Amino acid sequence: MAKLSVVNPATGKVAATLPADDAKSVAAKYRRAREAQPRWARVRLKERLATIERFRALVVRDAERLAHVLTTEVGKPIAQSRNELKGLLPRLDFFLEETAHALRSERVSGERGGPMEERISHEPLGVVANISAWNYPWFVGSNVFVPALLAGNTVLYKPSEFAALTGAEIARLLYEAGVPQDVFIPLVGGGAVGEALLAQPVDGVFFTGSVGTGRKIAAAVAGRMIKVQLELGGKDPIYVCEDVDVATAATGIADGAFYNTGQSCCSVERVYVHEAIFDRFVEAFVAEVRRFRRGNPEDESTYIGPLTRAPQVKVLEAQVKDALAKGARVLTGGKRAKGPGHWFEPTVLVDVRHDMAVMREESFGPVIGVMPVASDAQAVELMNDTQYGLTAGVYTRDRARAERILAQVRSGSVYWNCCDRVSPRLPWSGVGDSGVGLTLSRYGIEAFTRPKAWHLRSA
Ligand code: NAD
Repeated sequence: MAKLSVVNPATGKVAATLPADDAKSVAAKYRRAREAQPRWARVRLKERLATIERFRALVVRDAERLAHVLTTEVGKPIAQSRNELKGLLPRLDFFLEETAHALRSERVSGERGGPMEERISHEPLGVVANISAWNYPWFVGSNVFVPALLAGNTVLYKPSEFAALTGAEIARLLYEAGVPQDVFIPLVGGGAVGEALLAQPVDGVFFTGSVGTGRKIAAAVAGRMIKVQLELGGKDPIYVCEDVDVATAATGIADGAFYNTGQSCCSVERVYVHEAIFDRFVEAFVAEVRRFRRGNPEDESTYIGPLTRAPQVKVLEAQVKDALAKGARVLTGGKRAKGPGHWFEPTVLVDVRHDMAVMREESFGPVIGVMPVASDAQAVELMNDTQYGLTAGVYTRDRARAERILAQVRSGSVYWNCCDRVSPRLPWSGVGDSGVGLTLSRYGIEAFTRPKAWHLRSA
């Protein structure tokens, strides 16, 4: 049987070895999920909601242990692993509160029992494939599998091979909460297991990951009449206007760029600063970044951990090298850090331009470029000069100015005086290479259903 080794990215040591899936076991799991689906769809919504409510209580019960599992396998600093588990609860609460409303069938014309009544009901898609990323496995996983299950789908859940232990914990808690074992089925393995899953006749594919893999998934399911959602990467910009409190803006944006060691889809990846305050902002920003403690992710005070995936060290090295060759300067960091595991120093670059990879390609690590701009118009032009469009933000005291700027930015989410923020009540979506489809908000519940049109004539 194939095996998957889970490597602790802070130490480079194998933390666990798991039996992995292969094409045959994936096909068998698909058949179980297919058979179970109509039964699960007939379970009353109230009961499905009760299982997720119990799941929530079990997450609370086991939170501390789950945080350590997450830190072991992805290297997330322990305080941030705890935050992820804490942050999961309001998302679950949102789904618990909102699902009945979002799934209620609706009379849109005529009287009940009248001569012609028109209704819309929300039918589950069927069996859905949930292929997920490792950087926030509790968030990006639950954004999909919770509403999918609540809507009456069965779920084949393929967590990232870098978050396989968390995937197993999620399954264990869902089962303990009362979700039948054929209704939510985890798969263990990497890209090949994902491909084997896509070879099955599933009814929907919900993917979170890189644009490169997203393209492969789109190609693999092309021609099949099924729902496909792709939540992909970003190169998210922030524009700092000249009227801000520099210290406050620098603190907020440094956190938005370096939290989770810069490995968030909505990490700030480019900063544009009005030239009137550029030097002051850069000084405050670099001072803030130098204060970040890098080290053992099990340590309570660690803010910067290792990179979860070893190859990303080379990606960051190449981005810095390319930038330096084209005239950029490193103000802090700039290279891989020593030690077992995979580490990169928190890095700030200036004198950057848009012909440098660091301003165009997703860094997905603790590296950022800061660039002066002369006007709001130039800021908008540079913010939009990207293949991506996940989030974008503006820092200014002037709300009307912020709204004017943000209205012109092509982006799924926009922020005024905040960044790196996700709300369960708002849709999470991308423009361009940041993907298609959405999760969260009531639209992110409906996404797991197919509207059915009822034309009912009484005679
Ligand atoms: P990835 O694309 O390497 O892997 C994602 C998942 O796809 C994994 O489970 C992987 O095993 C699987 N996979 C790989 N090749 C496959 C194939 N050919 N067929 C089917 N499945 C395959 O991404 P990652 O490194 O896990 O995650 C980081 C990326 O995810 C970043 O680009 C980040 O911005 C993005 N992300 C986006 C969001 C969002 O909401 N938009 C959220 C989190 C992460």
